[in-house]
Amino acid sequence: TPDIRPLVAGNWKMNGTRASFDQIKAMAEGVKGDLSSKVETLICPPATLLYVATALCDDSPLMIGAQDCHQKQSGAHTGEVSAEMIADCFGTHVIVGHSERRTDHAEHDGLVRAKTDAAHAAELVAIVCIGETGDERQVGKTLDVLKRQLAESLPDSATAENTVIAYEPVWAIGTGLTPTTADVEEAHAFMRQELVSRFGGAGGKMRILYGGSVKPSNARELMGVANVDGALIGGASLKAEDFLAIYRAY
Ligand code: PEP
Repeated sequence: TPDIRPLVAGNWKMNGTRASFDQIKAMAEGVKGDLSSKVETLICPPATLLYVATALCDDSPLMIGAQDCHQKQSGAHTGEVSAEMIADCFGTHVIVGHSERRTDHAEHDGLVRAKTDAAHAAELVAIVCIGETGDERQVGKTLDVLKRQLAESLPDSATAENTVIAYEPVWAIGTGLTPTTADVEEAHAFMRQELVSRFGGAGGKMRILYGGSVKPSNARELMGVANVDGALIGGASLKAEDFLAIYRAY
């Protein structure tokens, strides 16, 4: 979208140990330069690596975020991480509502909205994931699902600065399958229209990322589709070489 600075974001999921700091360092080095003024970059490693990762990116435009947050600020929620804790470790973004969270932890739109609110309260950018399952696509429900997820996962306080949408067809995640560019274009145009009708000018500027089996070989084509303002990348974000190749597709 003209006037929108694209975001290339990586989601490491439950992958990565201290040995992976070498990859973060290589990414931090690789995104220094002219292109970084046009394209933002972000890696979301597991929470165990967050604090050291942000320190490694001190003098790089590469930003570091988390993959989930709890909806509350603190308290008796064993095993959880709050948005404040992410901000305290200098994380700038948090992914919420990823389909793996929706499936593995039964996260519904209302909870995703509460997590988005929590992210905003901690001054984090929320990357709100939505997308249809294979079954929903088969029966022609894709746009209905996107409409509902957008309406119910986003709080009224969402702005182009504090919120990024990630469209991730569930059947395209980790499968090597991608929708056709025509299908991506249709979905993104629909989401843009929904965002503009609810948020006005802010909806026109909100980034809408595509995610699902993005790799160096298909990045240029997918990122060239109208209303695609960047990518959320799983598998291909683990290695600096692949992540940087996707970044350079811009
Ligand atoms: C993801 O987990 O957000 C994702 C898009 O995964 P992959 O790129 O591996 O399909």
